[in-house]
Amino acid sequence: MPYELPALPYPYDSLEPHLDKATLEFHHDKHHKGYVDGLNAALAKIEDARKSGDFALLQHYERLVAFHGAGHANHVQYWENMAPAGKGGGGEPTGALAEQIKKDFGSFENLKKELSAATVSVEGSGWGLLAWEPLGHRLITLSLLNHQNASFIGSHPLLICDAWEHAYYLKYQNKRADYVAAWWNLVNWADVSKRFAQATHHH
Ligand code: MN
Repeated sequence: MPYELPALPYPYDSLEPHLDKATLEFHHDKHHKGYVDGLNAALAKIEDARKSGDFALLQHYERLVAFHGAGHANHVQYWENMAPAGKGGGGEPTGALAEQIKKDFGSFENLKKELSAATVSVEGSGWGLLAWEPLGHRLITLSLLNHQNASFIGSHPLLICDAWEHAYYLKYQNKRADYVAAWWNLVNWADVSKRFAQATHHH
């Protein structure tokens, strides 16, 4: 069953002025779609290998599955982690998530600083991530390289910010920090809280 590109959960211009319509059109329709297509193509090659029994190129296709698969998953979450500013986007977390943030980072402001730094400081292309780490029973931040490297397997992604140039260059050019500062106005804390509740349900 091939993977499919889900529609954006809101209109392309609804995250303005923080993220512009043209950026969302290219980002979703071209870049995100490219990862879905790449994932399907790599899985088809592995299916061919399964049928022929020739796994000589399996290592190559497994790497493509990891790259494009994580690219797809990260973008699905990136879109769902955002909402139009003032209409579900922005503000601060509440409830159990807010308490855990205070426990692990000291304050929401500290988390903002740390996750902003984790995103802005990505070398080349990658993502800033807030995740629940069940072994240590704590929230952690990560700077993912590409889509999947420098990750902590087993941790549950809660909030992700795209630091690839395609996410911001049309509007912000080289000013990645300005893009990240604007992105906070779009964070859908209800979605992040839902993910936190799911991730901690069994712990
Ligand atoms: Mn992207």
